Amino acid sequence: MGDEIAQLGERILNGERRALARAITLIESGRSDHRADAELLLQQVQQSGREALRIGLSGTPGVGKSTFIEAFGMMLIKMGLRVAVLAVDPSSTRSGGSILGDKTRMEYLSREKNAFIRPSPSQNHLGGVARRTREAVALCEAANFDVVLIETVGVGQSETVVAELSDLFLLLLAPAGGDELQGVKRGIMEMADMILVNKADGDLKSAATRTCADYAGALRLLRKRPQDPDGYPCAKTVSAIEKDGLQDAWETIQTLIEWRKDNHHWTRRRASQAAYWFDQEVRSALLAQLNAPDVRQRMAQLSAQVGQGHMAPTHAARKLLASLAQS
Ligand code: GDP
Repeated sequence: MGDEIAQLGERILNGERRALARAITLIESGRSDHRADAELLLQQVQQSGREALRIGLSGTPGVGKSTFIEAFGMMLIKMGLRVAVLAVDPSSTRSGGSILGDKTRMEYLSREKNAFIRPSPSQNHLGGVARRTREAVALCEAANFDVVLIETVGVGQSETVVAELSDLFLLLLAPAGGDELQGVKRGIMEMADMILVNKADGDLKSAATRTCADYAGALRLLRKRPQDPDGYPCAKTVSAIEKDGLQDAWETIQTLIEWRKDNHHWTRRRASQAAYWFDQEVRSALLAQLNAPDVRQRMAQLSAQVGQGHMAPTHAARKLLASLAQS
């Protein structure tokens, strides 16, 4: 099996999309032997040291995420870049569906040989979704993709996951009907590096321009972050359908990223994200250990002793943790 994994790793490093798809299926699997193989594989491809630009993109259903990704992705492909699209969709646990489930949503992009689109698997909890996506991003980087777009629906919790996975976070909004801000949560606004007001075309154009100005004003009121040059975070209008403003959005991204690289924010953010995920992995592994049947049984026994006053809670806890370390 080790050889097979090593070969799979080589094929990923050669940029083979089929190998990449297979590897992602492996990391999505809940089987413990698959998990062991996935860890081997990730350790192998990590050596490549390749880095893509990871862009998180969030927006409520209907705002135009897939239309935007299709147009934006096609533009990048025409520039000679390789583009991967992944999805984080915690809601799929409930609905059984998935936001990228229907590949025809990105009809042109999905036919490009330099594009890779991975639908979100259904049936997963958020912790699992985070790990899966993070590992899938790492695999896409190893497979030499230049840009990895990580799409999520705006449901609050998933944005935090995506922000911890990406170098840059884009929030896609629709033109507002009235002059009110669209109830975007402050926390989500604070995460955004750029707000894009989509559908700035036809009858919606003036509403989009107004909405964009409102958000630009709201962004100026936020506390200045050290990782931003002057003028960021910013708000822009785009039309995914008319492919308008996409070039400008890309240039705005490039300027930001160059500045962050020059000022060491890029490496610092990557390092703190890696440390965050390490911490999360340790915590979830410990929790998984606590849920193992033999440990639960031992806990129940110790708990009974504590309840009967035979043992102090602190001592019992230490005994349990010591037995974990030995197992
Ligand atoms: P998602 O649910 O966020 O992925 O949104 P979709 O990309 O599926 O788009 C939802 C609807 O908005 C579709 O009917 C699109 O045709 C429409 N739409 C997307 N982008 C634009 C745009 O730039 N302008 C206009 N007028 N409509 C758009």
